[in-house]
Amino acid sequence: MKPLLDVENVSYTYHALSGETKALDRLSFQVHFNEFVGIIGPSGCGKSTILSLIFGLIPPESGEIKIHEALLKDHTMPIGYMLQKDHLLEWRTVYENIMLGLEINHQMTPVRIKAVQQMLKDYGLDQFKDARPSQLSGGMRQRAALIRTLALNPGLLLLDEPFSALDYQTRLNVSEEIYTILRKKHKSAILVTHDISEAISFCDRIIVLTHRPGTVREILPIHLTLEKKTPLKARTAKEFQNYFNQLWGDLNESSD
Ligand code: ADP
Ligand code: MG
Repeated sequence: MKPLLDVENVSYTYHALSGETKALDRLSFQVHFNEFVGIIGPSGCGKSTILSLIFGLIPPESGEIKIHEALLKDHTMPIGYMLQKDHLLEWRTVYENIMLGLEINHQMTPVRIKAVQQMLKDYGLDQFKDARPSQLSGGMRQRAALIRTLALNPGLLLLDEPFSALDYQTRLNVSEEIYTILRKKHKSAILVTHDISEAISFCDRIIVLTHRPGTVREILPIHLTLEKKTPLKARTAKEFQNYFNQLWGDLNESSD
């Protein structure tokens, strides 16, 4: 099957006044349709840089990134980006925040607006659409940020530690919710996280990176014996602990 995303031999170096930092070295991996791929690796190994490259914020120094076999710059498939910080604007209501992406991209079409209104209802934010972001709980804020991201109907979602600012219980609940929503909408996603359990519970495949400059150390497919995987159920699967131990070992070796 042809991949949705193909990252081929991508390297990237930051050039700053203080010197050069080689962040990624000949990195290659693929993401398929409907697949959730996790990226884990030591701090500073280039995880966020990978997402910036895929989103097109920075160009690869060498190598290629392709979407549906076309070079990234020639492709029009919207890509969604969610970060640890939700970047909701306090001077806009929840609804106005969610509409921001559509506004900026001149896509305030009746179909898109209707889809947003349906998501507000489905994800329990309808009553809060006129509230300010500060009136929402951490979990609700992340849900609002997700609706804002999904409003543009992206084919691929880039999630950069989106749960890590939340307290433990909220984090498990929000990851469960977001997983269920993305699966229902048949999205593909890349989840960057430093949390091994989160990666196993959320992803179909996990890419372990070496320390900087990041390159692929290992790609581990996750197969759990479960009737229907969700992040919470995944934690009860009998294979969970083995995957955890393996990834823990890999990460510690990567950090040496
Ligand atoms: P991670 O997300 O895995 O923690 P990053 O992709 O953010 O790592 O960063 C990779 C490396 O590049 C780090 O050493 C970081 O300090 C460096 N880096 C990131 N952004 C910049 C930048 N704008 N200028 C210079 N160096 C940077
Ligand atoms: Mg990062």
